[in-house]
Amino acid sequence: MITKDSIESLKSQLDVVDVISQFLELRKAGANFKACCPFHGETTPSFVVSPAKQIYHCFGCGVGGDSINFLMEYEKLSYPETLEKLAGMYNVTLSYDDKGQKAQSVKIIEDLNKLYQRLFVNNDTCKDYIKQRGITEFSIEKFEIGYAPKSGDTINYLKNNHHNLSEAIDLGVIDTGQSGLYSRFIERITFPIYSLNAKIVGFGGRTITGHNAKYVNSPQSKVFNKSRLLYGYHLAKEHIYKKNQIIITEGYLDVIMLHQAGFNTAVATLGTALTSDHLPLIKRGEPKVILAYDGDKAGLKAAFKAATILSHSDFEGGVVIFSGGLDPADMVKEDRIEELNTMFLKPKGFIAFVIDSIISTYDTHDPQQKQKALVETNEYLKTLNPIYQDEYKRYIAQKLNVREHLVQINKVSRAQAINLSKIDIAELSILKHILEDKSRLDGVLDIIDSSMFEFHVEEFNTLIHDIGNPSLNGILLNEALQEYSHEEFEKQLLCLLDKFYNNKLTHVTYAQDMNFKEKVLLIRKIKDNIKQLKIGKLIKYNL
Ligand SMILES: [Zn+2]
Repeated sequence: MITKDSIESLKSQLDVVDVISQFLELRKAGANFKACCPFHGETTPSFVVSPAKQIYHCFGCGVGGDSINFLMEYEKLSYPETLEKLAGMYNVTLSYDDKGQKAQSVKIIEDLNKLYQRLFVNNDTCKDYIKQRGITEFSIEKFEIGYAPKSGDTINYLKNNHHNLSEAIDLGVIDTGQSGLYSRFIERITFPIYSLNAKIVGFGGRTITGHNAKYVNSPQSKVFNKSRLLYGYHLAKEHIYKKNQIIITEGYLDVIMLHQAGFNTAVATLGTALTSDHLPLIKRGEPKVILAYDGDKAGLKAAFKAATILSHSDFEGGVVIFSGGLDPADMVKEDRIEELNTMFLKPKGFIAFVIDSIISTYDTHDPQQKQKALVETNEYLKTLNPIYQDEYKRYIAQKLNVREHLVQINKVSRAQAINLSKIDIAELSILKHILEDKSRLDGVLDIIDSSMFEFHVEEFNTLIHDIGNPSLNGILLNEALQEYSHEEFEKQLLCLLDKFYNNKLTHVTYAQDMNFKEKVLLIRKIKDNIKQLKIGKLIKYNL
């Protein structure tokens, strides 16, 4: 590992403008610099670099960080690799406190991947299978398709090349059983799986000997977490940002064939269902999400679950179902590219898909079944945000052919309704004032807490617990926010407290769960506090 001291001394040499300007054309804009963001397609620059704060932030796609984050993301390097590259650029010598163990571990999988690729070329069964599926030489190389030999051959290869076998076990490429070491991948076509920073972390393998398990994947390991990764993401990443689209399939061959046909935003889950763990990755660049799933029972069930999750998180996009036993790979092989194009252009929206799926499980000609369908769709509707509830209330009524008032939606509270659309400049300006000088935070926390923020509670909480979080850079660099003097800042805190106490007063006055005496006491206290505020005293919330 690179020592902390040498990382610090490297950091002290870095200037964010200098580093980024070696990759992008930066233009001066006031105190900052601007460029078109390299991480999402745009024609008017919303990528801002601040020399004063030594950070960058894109107001379009939300990426941001310091010099190191930039290079990591731009060159798709791991953290140590980035440090090494920067050290080279700025002539800084790094020191290490071990023998680079982490680099060693990735090297085992890299070497095995190379071995598997070499063996693939000499194996006719593999080549025949892959060719018969329609995969070209170009795709074989692009996706580094390989062949894992008999168990003993893999073990011998590792031994002969002096790889650390216990490390190989930790990485999930081999394991130990009753009769000693064995390979995880035996006589299988291999599909290497890459992490986000383009490092190989595991394999998927398809049997060519008719083994019961058609596909197996590397087990969870210290470098491989299958519920957070997507197959092909490292190859699709750039296109996902540029085209603002991601196609999610369930098969490795689907990904390869879709890329082959020019649908280069295709990725696949790694033999697992799509879960909320995948969402942070999918959200990157805010693409429109297209779920491309099989029309068989398992595929429909998986699509239903995935669409439900995505609809809860307000993702844009929809579902494309491949029926008649076909999958995307088959369609590419049959050269039905135009048809695929049309399908991807018109996916069925997630919410409509979920509602239709629920209704399709009932016979709606039968009044009792219709009633059940209504109850179940209602339940789903209630989990959505209020705007969608209202929109899809009509949709359900039409589909079930019932009157609209039978479809119930949650009453939207005022706060919720405002929250949906509004940002609050005063609250954000307070946050910015604290971010400008982090030592202000303690003093502020003596007076207010996050419950007093109406719109930006989440940001305030992040600020309290993780003030360096890059998600706050957008506030720091937002020029629309006011710059407060100390006096103005205190005035804003007074306003915040005043609004909070007055809301509290209304709340207590009409509270159902308090008796008269309790109410009177509390109201008196609140009014006392408000009086103090009126004479300009900042007092802590202490009811
Ligand atoms: Zn951007």
